[in-house]
Order: sequence, then C-alpha cells, then structure tokens
Amino acid sequence: MNTPGSAVPPAARDKLLFTPGPLTTSSGVKEAMLHDAGSWHWEFNTKVKHIRERLLALAGVRQDQGWECVLLQGSGTFGVESVFQTCVPPDGKVAVLSNGAYGERMVLMLQHARIPHVILRTQEDTPNDAQALDDALTQDPSITHVAVVHCETTTGILNDIAAVGAVARRHGKTYVVDAMSSFGAVPIDFEAVGLDFLISSANKCVEGVPGFSFVLCRRARLLASEGWARNLSMNLLDQLKGFEKNGQFRYTPPTHAILAFERALDELDLEGGVAGRAARYRRNHEVLLAGMRRLGFQSYLPAGVQSYIITSFLFPKDPRFTFAEFYKRVAEKGYILYPGKISQADTFRIGNIGRLFESDLRSVVYAIGEAIEEMGIQP
Ligand SMILES: *Cc1c(COP(=O)(O)O)cnc(C)c1O
Repeated sequence: MNTPGSAVPPAARDKLLFTPGPLTTSSGVKEAMLHDAGSWHWEFNTKVKHIRERLLALAGVRQDQGWECVLLQGSGTFGVESVFQTCVPPDGKVAVLSNGAYGERMVLMLQHARIPHVILRTQEDTPNDAQALDDALTQDPSITHVAVVHCETTTGILNDIAAVGAVARRHGKTYVVDAMSSFGAVPIDFEAVGLDFLISSANKCVEGVPGFSFVLCRRARLLASEGWARNLSMNLLDQLKGFEKNGQFRYTPPTHAILAFERALDELDLEGGVAGRAARYRRNHEVLLAGMRRLGFQSYLPAGVQSYIITSFLFPKDPRFTFAEFYKRVAEKGYILYPGKISQADTFRIGNIGRLFESDLRSVVYAIGEAIEEMGIQP
C-alpha cells in the first residue's frame, strides 16, 4: 500500500508496521489472497510443491544433495517446537545458547516436552559463546543437539551461527537454528554453517502473511527421527511423508497464506533475492539509525553485533517520557512501533523489515521527532 500508484488511495492506507512481524506487505501479496483454493486440488498441491522447492533454492541447497523443506501450519514458534517435538530422541539432550526471549522460548518448549537440556546464557547485548559450548560438549557427552537463535529479535543482535556450528559439528551434534527473522534477508551458507535444521516463517523477511512456518533440514536427520515424535499435529516427519504421498498438508492448510507466499517469493526474486533484500534492509537500518541519532536517541547494542533487521533504542532519560504516550502519538501519525523486550534496559524497537523503503524510515523518524516535540521531551 505504500508504493506510488497503488490501487488504494492514500486515505485508506494501513499504518506502516515497524515491528518484528507480522509486517507490512505489498498490495500484490494481499491481492494474491482474493481467491479460494481447494486444499485437495492438484492446482493447490502443485503450488505447495513449488514453494517447497523454491525455499530450498532460496536457501542455496538442493534436494538431490539431501535437503528437504517441510511447511507446517501455525506461526514460527510452532515450527521451532515441531523440530524439538519430532527430532530429539527419547534419550536426547539439547544445549540452548540464549541471549534473549526467543532463546528462552526454546527453553520453555524443552521444559514442556520434558526434554533434558542445558542453557548457556550470555547477556542480551553479547553474542552466543562458542567457547562455552565447546566446554559444555566436552564435559557432557550426553548432549545430542545444539540450538541457537540467529537474529535475536529481542534486541536485534546477530549471533555468529557459523562459529557455534563449527563447535557443534566438531563434536558431532545435530544443529538447530531459529532463523525466523533473518532467513531471506541475511545470507546463510547452510553447508558452511553446518546446519541440520533451520526454521523460519511466512511473515518475516520473505514478506508473506502469517499462517505457516517452514523447516529446512537434512533429509537423513528427519528420517532418522522415526518413532520419536511426542506430538501428533506437529510431527514433521509425518508431514514430510504426507507431502510425498499425496502432496497435501495433513490437516487444513493455510490456503490464503500459501497463495500470498507464492507472490511474496516472486517479489523477492524480482528484488534480486537475498542480496537484494539485504541491501534494502541495510539501507533502511542506516537511514533509521542516522535519523534517530540526529534526534538524540541512543541505540542499545554495540555496532559490531547489531543486525539490520530490527533496532532497540533506549528510552529518553527525561522523566516525562512514557512509552505508552509516545507509542500512541506515533501511531496516530500512521506508524506502528514495537515495545522493548529486554530485561536489563528500558527500550523500544523499530523494525526495518517488511515492505518498507528508505522513504518510510525517513517518515517514521520525522513522526518520532514530532511526537517527542509534542511531549516536550529532549532525548
Ligand atoms: C518472530 C520470531 C519467532 C516466532 O514468533 P511467532 O510469534 O511464533 O511467529 C521465533 N524466533 C524469532 C527469532 C523471531 O523473530
């Protein structure tokens, strides 16, 4: 809706979402949903098959080299949980490297599944510690899996999944990466990183709408999990078999989200794939950071670990600042910000992902400037 020449007049524009998802989507993606698809019909099942193939291509891996893509209903969390529920053996144990809310969510999943685990935490502004993992794996040979979050959307920190993957591989462990907010916009070399399972979802950097997650994995690792699933509807292996048997989701598929996703993949190709999208998001991030600094705001993370996906900003020190009031004023101007999620500092977040362009970032910075002026605040 934010592109010139859009069919929808400016007055009817939705507010722009500067969030970690769901995100602002293109009019093309929204229009793709103006259809009803029969979930049993070959036309729809062919689309699902192509989407699975296109995701593998986007990841730079191939089916004939042992890679698979499984789609699963639900948001991204469901995808991550399905990997633990399906692919950790009954005597398995998971090492989770955590520096934010999504790492902690993995811990909750393991607690609920009663899967033994160890947690290797670093501060929220500090990347995962590959050396600590090396020590843990040396001391505890019963650990079977290593799980990390690539871009911790809690802060926007980008973890070094290659460094952690090298340790996991050296110890012969299965490596699980939550790349929810990075896949499609941050280049990932699957083989070099030593990935076994990568999870992302429809409504993040691919810029589709919410409705399903997807798991890219080594086929042999998934096939090896026969009989381990702790849960019926999230059984990834059975869903793979379902796709191979009749091309169908086992239960009602998110038909409209699939149609939207097909269009979103077309638009990602048109933009130049991962490299093109990365360039736009990087530019968005630069424009945002420069603009916010000019207003006097400080970002939370050190520059070296900051991703171009989402940025945390510290609250102004002025005691008259309240996030609720600030949020409301910026929202009234047409821009949706996101609260912070950090335990160690008062922050709010601004995302650069979704159908947002440099001009949109300039606009949100302008609106923020107006809002703080109205509130009489000096950041
Ligand atoms: C968005 C996100 C998730 C999944 O969140 P849902 O609300 O279930 O879609 C998981 N991990 C990370 C890093 C995310 O950014």
